[in-house]
Amino acid sequence: MKKYDYLIVGSGLFGAVFAHEVAAKGKHCLVVERRAHAGGNIYCQNREGINIHFYGGHIFHTSDRSVWEYVNQFAEFNHYINSPLANYKGKLYNLPFNMNTFYEMWGVTTPKEAVERIAAQRSIITHEPRNLEEQAISLVGMDIYEKLIKGYTEKQWGRKCTELPAFIIKRLPVRYTYDNNYFNDRYQGVPIGGYNILINHLLEGIEVRLDCDFNQDQTAWKSMADKIVYTGTIDEYFDYGLGELEYRGLRFETERYEIDNYQGVAAVNYTDSETPYTRIIEHKHFEFGTQPVTYITKEYPAVWKRGDEAYYPINNTKNQKLYQQYLMKAKQEQNLIFGGRLGEYKYYDMDKVIQSALRLAEKELC
Ligand code: UDP
Repeated sequence: MKKYDYLIVGSGLFGAVFAHEVAAKGKHCLVVERRAHAGGNIYCQNREGINIHFYGGHIFHTSDRSVWEYVNQFAEFNHYINSPLANYKGKLYNLPFNMNTFYEMWGVTTPKEAVERIAAQRSIITHEPRNLEEQAISLVGMDIYEKLIKGYTEKQWGRKCTELPAFIIKRLPVRYTYDNNYFNDRYQGVPIGGYNILINHLLEGIEVRLDCDFNQDQTAWKSMADKIVYTGTIDEYFDYGLGELEYRGLRFETERYEIDNYQGVAAVNYTDSETPYTRIIEHKHFEFGTQPVTYITKEYPAVWKRGDEAYYPINNTKNQKLYQQYLMKAKQEQNLIFGGRLGEYKYYDMDKVIQSALRLAEKELC
């Protein structure tokens, strides 16, 4: 008899939701986390009343009402709407690409004029877009591609836009209305008091061991539970036996200022190629903070190497093929399940992570 029904490796959103669901049905769970805190990349650190999104800004958005109701059981969400700005060589543009952006870019004031501008610029792409550059030009034309997309994307991914898949840019809405809401989803907000409230409520009553690295002694950990749900990177689980999957890394530099408002908005993207960071987050604006001080974080994209935190899977054919090979290997081991952005090697948003964890829990419980 093993001590636990489930050993869940990683206490991020996937691990916490899965643990919560199966524990609620009487399963005995242990969550192991190698960091010193729970919550994975949604972890917040409170400084002087400001919740710092420690691993980059996280805005919850979904069109799935059941997911929205699900998260609202554990934390109260505010009415924050993400409306980032782009700073290109000192000039500001609204995001996502909408009538405000088109006005700022070309001085056009009507949707008809904007449609015509873009139509003229996109006409150079006559075939189905084969990469991010072609996709971007065909969506918004050359001017916006060059000023607001090319530099940012190439910095963020460390690759040429011609070498990136088109789907990445399809995450961004293009609208012919004056609407700066970055997302199209029906529901949006940030937990009042920060994401730790959500994670702590999900993990209430569940045994969590921090500072424990499952991969340091897989055999010992595995002997403790009937099933393993692993939310780290699949290649690390297998000690990179089939080779490394590629990830994009990040580095954060946080600064404190004795002023109440640094940039007037939560996120400013630096879309030129010279500025070394991709964006500056001013955390207090996620919760409409009125503190006399402020904290900002500069987000620098970084080359990922073994031992670094992996932030974004790099979804190209080569990596997808390798991921499938790792999955085949995983299937040979009984009672081992991979989940979450890293375990499934997907550019998941938070709501998709929750859906995936809920689906898995349902499957396990039936
Ligand atoms: N993007 C861009 N310019 C911007 C913001 C986003 O070109 O100012 C593109 C870029 O290709 C990026 C993708 O949209 O990789 C998604 O960006 P976002 O910052 O929304 O993704 P996140 O890092 O928040 O997941």
